[in-house]
Amino acid sequence: MLKAAEKRTEAPERFLFGPGPTNVDPRVYKAMAQPIVGMRDPFFFDCMAEVQTGLRSVFGTGNAVTFPVPGTGSSGMETAIANFVTPGMKTVIFANGLFADRQTEIAKRHGAQVVRFEKDWGEVFSADEAETFLERERPQVVAFVQAETSTGAFQQAKAITTPAKKIGAITIADCVTSLGAMPVEVDSNDIDVAYSCSQKGLSCPPGLSPITVSPRAWEWLQKRESIDTWYLDLRLLTKWWDAPHVYHHTPPTTLIYAIREALAVIEEEGLKSRWERHHRAHERLVTGLGRLGFEPFVSNPENRIWHLVTARVPSGVNEAELRTRLMEKYGIDMAAGIGKLSGQILRIGIMGPLATDEKIDFLLDAISSSM
Ligand code: PLP
Repeated sequence: MLKAAEKRTEAPERFLFGPGPTNVDPRVYKAMAQPIVGMRDPFFFDCMAEVQTGLRSVFGTGNAVTFPVPGTGSSGMETAIANFVTPGMKTVIFANGLFADRQTEIAKRHGAQVVRFEKDWGEVFSADEAETFLERERPQVVAFVQAETSTGAFQQAKAITTPAKKIGAITIADCVTSLGAMPVEVDSNDIDVAYSCSQKGLSCPPGLSPITVSPRAWEWLQKRESIDTWYLDLRLLTKWWDAPHVYHHTPPTTLIYAIREALAVIEEEGLKSRWERHHRAHERLVTGLGRLGFEPFVSNPENRIWHLVTARVPSGVNEAELRTRLMEKYGIDMAAGIGKLSGQILRIGIMGPLATDEKIDFLLDAISSSM
């Protein structure tokens, strides 16, 4: 039975130093309290257009087909795969972490003939090895994860998209963790389909999954006979997002307000300044953790995600107990390793409002006094 209103507890304020959800910008909370309007209200259509413009800017693209699909990051992943992978299609997945495994699982469920290029977790793929593999396999679709949240490794997109383009394959990039905090640069990186989420680098609540599609991939999709998903069918979704706005599903109004405001906050800060802020926070955190005896999990600094630091705890420190103490004493929510790295590393997200000198120093002091 529900507790009487006066006895019900409110959600506590936390410092969300995990990969996601992360702290929401205060302006976004305020935007979410606006009245719900009808889905055909001129104000709402303006909101939708602003969201599309803002997303093009953070994705670094001029792609007309750019909007958020409903659902969390996995919804974007399923949208990209369901639309661009047909049954029997040869699909290469660059597999170096948990989210590439998820791409594999979804691609198989959509009937793909998956070929995986496997690497140890924490490593990334060089241009030479990607080219050799793709020249040999000659797939029609290539999928990879730009910022692999399970390991903290950042994959340079060009290393994969350049050889993929040479063989005419469509590229799908998971940008769930990179968008809004690090350069994604869809156009200059030659990515055909990129998807993300609202709850990480954009400092929004979870529930939306931005996606963008290149003209080349869009042209291919126009020729596809049927798409084996209705809710995530990009051809139908585009008709809703663009005029004449043909009804597809009831949009999550509050989340659209949220992402609209989050994108405005990013525009005001300046995307490049925001990236640089995350980079500076990264350097400060890695240096501070080093002083406390933590060892970075991704060995090459150039391959590290700036706003998601992965580290092994010093010997003699129990990572689970450390996380419990941080939560109980400071309200700090930090993530553990997942999948193969369960119990082995900490995953420390420093996104949006948490990527400041002050917050990093607070975190380092809290860790130091909780070890
Ligand atoms: N891809 C990556 C790289 C992720 O980090 C995540 C979630 O953390 C996902 C996909 C799935 O997103 P969600 O949990 O929002 O469905």
